[in-house]
Amino acid sequence: MSNSADSDNEDYMSSKYLTEIPLSSTTKPKTYSELRRQKLSSKSGYIKPLREREKESREQGLSKRIDDNADSPGLKLLKKMGYEIGKPLGKDSSGITEPINIEMKSDKSGLGLSSELKQKAEAELSRKAKRAKISEESFIERVRKEQVEKKINAQLNKAQKVCETLDTRKGIMDNIFWLSKENEESDEETSEFEQLSSAEKLDNILKYMREKYNYCFWCGCEYSNVEELEQLCPGIEDDDHD
Ligand SMILES: [Zn+2]
Repeated sequence: MSNSADSDNEDYMSSKYLTEIPLSSTTKPKTYSELRRQKLSSKSGYIKPLREREKESREQGLSKRIDDNADSPGLKLLKKMGYEIGKPLGKDSSGITEPINIEMKSDKSGLGLSSELKQKAEAELSRKAKRAKISEESFIERVRKEQVEKKINAQLNKAQKVCETLDTRKGIMDNIFWLSKENEESDEETSEFEQLSSAEKLDNILKYMREKYNYCFWCGCEYSNVEELEQLCPGIEDDDHD
């Protein structure tokens, strides 16, 4: 009985128990810096995967030229066959001077297939680029044409109104140049005028007003006579009036 009482009263904080706690648990790092240090130190022993090591040594090897290394067995062999550093290869020295570029294959398709596909893809790409450039150019051209057309139409519209005002003042009741078409009957002259382009219509109307009324559309005024018009108006074109 006394024995069991003894064991019940055992001191669990005595060295008997504390020393039995596994060492690893006491050495376990607690702070972040400790953890980081542990991580770094474990990295020094890190071994890269074979695939990665292969790739590194391959790239290292390929980046070196054979003639950079005088001890290279390959260079010695080449020299024995008459090769001189920097000279092209071949019997008549018409070969390449630079090493053949090596591309690693990563797929399972045949060599011929991949190069054929590559060529096709490149051709398609250049076709697309060409097409895109053409459509871009035609787009810019179209926008530019539309802007010019719009400007001319606005000028034509204005010129037709001015023409009507000038004509009406002189008692002329009908003119094919007018904007408002009250008489719908299409005589030959009207339809001929209607078939002209906006720029041609504008030209015709401006010429008419200039000759009949000494009116310059670009100056925006009616001169009292031809002499005045010729003296004061810089010219018959829009560009003359800048
Ligand atoms: Zn003028």
